[in-house]
Amino acid sequence: MGAEEAAHLAYVALGANLAGPEEQVRRALVELDQLPGSRLLRASPLYLTKPLGAADQPDYVNAVVRLKTRLSPRDLLLALQAIEQAHGRVREEGRWGPRPLDLDLLLYDRDCIEEPDLRVPHSEMSRRAFVLAPLADIAPGDFIIPGQDRCLADLLAACPRDGIQRLASARACEGAFSLAESQPA
Ligand code: ADP
Ligand code: MG
Repeated sequence: MGAEEAAHLAYVALGANLAGPEEQVRRALVELDQLPGSRLLRASPLYLTKPLGAADQPDYVNAVVRLKTRLSPRDLLLALQAIEQAHGRVREEGRWGPRPLDLDLLLYDRDCIEEPDLRVPHSEMSRRAFVLAPLADIAPGDFIIPGQDRCLADLLAACPRDGIQRLASARACEGAFSLAESQPA
């Protein structure tokens, strides 16, 4: 990757519900910070949330981070998938099955990408409290997700929030980084 490539702002959602989910997420925060040409700028608190889909699986730990990156959206997606695999993720048949780590690219600057295997903004983010709540912790309330007519705070207010709670240990992850920038996007 050439030094001439510009830096971009990306938001990534983390989710885990197997093999020590909180530890999986904390390790992934460090790994995101170490991606080529990338720096983790802010990490939300961790949330404990009820699973989508099959109810007979453990609760999830979720978080959202803001990343500065020189990777293209496609290279960032590939890098996220490589981290998932390093955490022992096996691609399952059905969706929303249990997994040690799920990393979704939520936003990349204000780009809109519509490819079969890469949609940005992430197609379901605007309806999911377990994404919107941690996103609202690190992005301004008047933040507009490209393609949405309501701001982040309004989307979150319209979303059922039962089944999500901040972990008591949540704040600890902020201290894990020398945050390069802690201003809102
Ligand atoms: P989910 O995150 O919905 O539980 P998976 O993690 O198994 O499902 O991802 C399914 C597919 O979603 C992947 O093969 C990936 O190519 C595709 N995908 C499309 N857009 C995105 C995105 N913005 N971030 C991550 N994966 C995406
Ligand atoms: Mg995913």
